[in-house]
Amino acid sequence: VLSADCYRHRHEISVTGDNVPPPFTSFEATGFPSEILREAKQAGFSAPTPIQAQSWPIALQGRDIVAIAKTGSGKTLGYLIPGFIHLKRRSNNPRLGPTVLVLSPTRELATQIQDEALKFGRSSKISCTCLYGGAPKGPQLKDLDRGVDVVVATPGRLNDILEMRRVSLHQVSYLVLDEADRMLDMGFEPQIRKIVKEVPSRRQTLMYTATWPKEVRRIAADLLVNPVQVNIGNVE
Ligand code: ADP
Ligand code: MG
Repeated sequence: VLSADCYRHRHEISVTGDNVPPPFTSFEATGFPSEILREAKQAGFSAPTPIQAQSWPIALQGRDIVAIAKTGSGKTLGYLIPGFIHLKRRSNNPRLGPTVLVLSPTRELATQIQDEALKFGRSSKISCTCLYGGAPKGPQLKDLDRGVDVVVATPGRLNDILEMRRVSLHQVSYLVLDEADRMLDMGFEPQIRKIVKEVPSRRQTLMYTATWPKEVRRIAADLLVNPVQVNIGNVE
């Protein structure tokens, strides 16, 4: 068994924040519900990735996170599984709106996140829909009317649907900004800010980014509260 510091060192990890909990170095250590552990086993995962090991215990404490990590590091389940556990604790009525909201820059990425959510959430009976542009709104609105626990959305389409008043974000208490740097590069900052205005301020916010320029720092400073910062790899 590796000590926390040793584990961090081996993966060039730095974690900054108050009272940072030690990482989960195995799936057994997570205490996740058995149906989720079963999915991980079925997917052939032998251990948490470094970002998962570091961010799961922090996210489970209900704290805000800003994670700077390259693609392919397993960020999706890094935020989805704690989101599922958050969802179970809340037991909101999905017909009144989603509890978990994930913002993603593109249709392709949003769809991949939804696929992962459906796969890992299936046995926990978690419902999820994906909202993105370039496709008819009808089926997306129908899903929202039926009620979903998790919404994965591109900022443009979600904003359109909000303006139509066809979704309420008043129950959202777990907000994820995935690939935040890319969303800002694509000019989504005004839409993101409008969306976040509809989300109660009493919430948990997790932000993921591959780079850490001042625009991303600024939006992190505005939207996150006392976040733990997790850096994975050679990011300054
Ligand atoms: P990122 O968002 O950081 O780019 P993803 O979340 O898309 O990365 O994950 C990349 C790939 O790694 C996916 O195919 C995912 O299923 C897989 N993966 C996630 N967690 C693990 C794990 N603990 N062990 C092995 N593979 C994993
Ligand atoms: Mg990703």
